[in-house]
Amino acid sequence: MATPFLDTSIEYLKGVGSARAELLRKELGLQTFGELLTYFPFRYVDRSKFYLISEIRDDTAYIQLKAKIVRIQTIGQAHHQRLVATARDSSGEIDLVWFQGIRWVTEMLTPQQEYVVFGKPALFNGRWSMAHPELEIPPAHPLPLSETVRPIYNSTEKLKNKGLDFKGIGKLVKNLLLSEKFAVPENLTLTILNNLRLLNRQEAFVNIHFPRSPDLLKKAQTRLKFEELFFIQLRLAKQRIGRLSKHEGHRFFKVGDYVNQFYHNHLTFELTNAQKRVIKEIRADVGSGNQMNRLLQGDVGSGKTLVALMTMLIALDNDYQSCLMAPTEILAKQHFKSITAMLTGLKVEVRLLTGNSKPAERREIQAGLESGTIQLLIGTHALLEENVQFYRLGLVVIDEQHRFGVAQRAKLWEKNIITPHILVMTATPIPRTLAMTLYGDLDTSVIDELPPGRKSIVTRHVYEPEHGKVFQFIREKVAEGRQVYIVYPLISESETLDLKNLEDGYQHVILEFPPPRYSVSMVHGQMKQQLKDTEMKRFLQKETQIMVATTVIEVGVDVPNASVMVIENAERFGLSQLHQLRGRVGRGSDQSYCILVSGYELSAEARKRISTMVRTTDGFEIAETDLQIRGPGDLQGTQQSGILDLRIADLVKDEKILKYARNVATDIITDDPELVKSDNDILARHLQQMERNQQNWGLIS
Ligand code: ADP
Ligand code: MG
Repeated sequence: MATPFLDTSIEYLKGVGSARAELLRKELGLQTFGELLTYFPFRYVDRSKFYLISEIRDDTAYIQLKAKIVRIQTIGQAHHQRLVATARDSSGEIDLVWFQGIRWVTEMLTPQQEYVVFGKPALFNGRWSMAHPELEIPPAHPLPLSETVRPIYNSTEKLKNKGLDFKGIGKLVKNLLLSEKFAVPENLTLTILNNLRLLNRQEAFVNIHFPRSPDLLKKAQTRLKFEELFFIQLRLAKQRIGRLSKHEGHRFFKVGDYVNQFYHNHLTFELTNAQKRVIKEIRADVGSGNQMNRLLQGDVGSGKTLVALMTMLIALDNDYQSCLMAPTEILAKQHFKSITAMLTGLKVEVRLLTGNSKPAERREIQAGLESGTIQLLIGTHALLEENVQFYRLGLVVIDEQHRFGVAQRAKLWEKNIITPHILVMTATPIPRTLAMTLYGDLDTSVIDELPPGRKSIVTRHVYEPEHGKVFQFIREKVAEGRQVYIVYPLISESETLDLKNLEDGYQHVILEFPPPRYSVSMVHGQMKQQLKDTEMKRFLQKETQIMVATTVIEVGVDVPNASVMVIENAERFGLSQLHQLRGRVGRGSDQSYCILVSGYELSAEARKRISTMVRTTDGFEIAETDLQIRGPGDLQGTQQSGILDLRIADLVKDEKILKYARNVATDIITDDPELVKSDNDILARHLQQMERNQQNWGLIS
């Protein structure tokens, strides 16, 4: 239910008015009492703690000191005057600086008086200073508890000019909490509150802003984090149950000739244990009578495509057609080639459909799909076109999921009355916590083992001045008959500049590797598709030994003979991108190498990304590190999701609370799938309200 008080326009809050209301809306997006209430402090200062001046570090934010004023000076002329009061404690000195209100401050300051100084220290000409600090005479008695933890809110320059710095915002929040009608309705059941010993909602909101004690602050945070994660999980659990009970699926009840023949006569190697386990999971799923919605995660080269192929053969054994959709034409063709090769000798009608398929061929394929003679269709987005209709589509495999929008997937489902089984393959591992939140309603299978005999890729970090060595290494590998990728960053914000980088790089490479002895290809995103394809093909057919490229080669290209990946300006790539790029080598039987070239100046983050790459090839470890470095907002595929717009919970730090929330939500939904029990009424109502407020929730899953 909408709560009128919390929906009140912020304009009517004591201390706001129409001008400030407009500013709060523009600067912080705050329009209602409720929105101000969920504008949480981004940190707190413990007012019972005093720093020594010697303890101040570069990254110290707001702090409190206790220091005596030992010197007061006015420096500069007329308009450029500033007041500098030097304060000293037992450990050192700091300059307190005022640029405004100089007269007034001078009168107020008492030399040799000890003050409690509150503010943000900065290093200036080798001395610590603090601009416009707050000063108080230390209280004779310890502070009352309610004032020991002080909230700090994010503000903006424009807000500060109108008196709404962190203190000003705090004052508004206080006005809200103290207003007569202030009330926050509970949205969790008594059972949950009691079992988990959570603070009630109103108490939590009061204490998140003005904690009565550090302990209550912690309790308030736990309660609000739980609430935030719990409703996401509740919604996902509900969807999941809904899907299982409502979406009838095609039942693939048998394993027949196609699978058996393939397994016994065509497979030239033993499946890994991980592949066997995943195939078992999939078989149970597609045989259950419910629709499968499964995410298959596994590092590049872990054998996902093979698992997908076996699943397609199960579909065939049950007289169903399958399709496999890839994000690019190159990839679709590659899948087509490797799958037809693996199926030689088996009577399976496989066809390829892409944007470049000729009209006549297209018509013929459409007819074959409708009559059922084509059993397996491989292609790109072209599969989604309306006139592509199937006779009996039972399974859809989607490769490299993050390239496809949810809406596109939905389009595929619409093609049939009974939704086909969906298997989404991704080589971008998703950290557990993120998967739980984003894909809580998808089942996941993980291939966490590479086929035996793979040599792990050797990764090295070198600095730009060592280029000579890198080229020498490339020369040796090319002499051995291997091929090499050299990748340059191409990031959209500075495309022209980057393109120049790439072209300079290409010229440089050609000078080092001149024709006719060597031949070098170049591929980048702004080239015509046809030219790109030609260049890729030349490389694939070993006509060129070196491929200079941008990240267009990130996804899926398979050239087993390429065994060296050089990444230029490695510091500019994200971790998951580096991992994807490295996955382009190590696909054949030769020892492969990944060389990360960077400048000497590296940010802490870039250094961490590079050292992570050098340390491990485990995609899941890399994904976890990526999440820690960047936070979830930037991870691939999550930007538009909206669902990760978490206000207080942190997927890295709050994994434990997330697990609690997930378990509690699952138990509740298992017991009461539609939330119709009167006990759960409160949850159902809150969920409805959230759905009304967050349209974008509907897009998840
Ligand atoms: P992914 O799609 O996960 O990147 P693929 O399915 O393309 O991986 O497999 C990569 C390569 O490994 C292919 O050449 C495939 O034939 C081979 N392969 C797959 N499974 C095994 C296995 N169990 N043993 C040996 N080689 C395998
Ligand atoms: Mg693949």
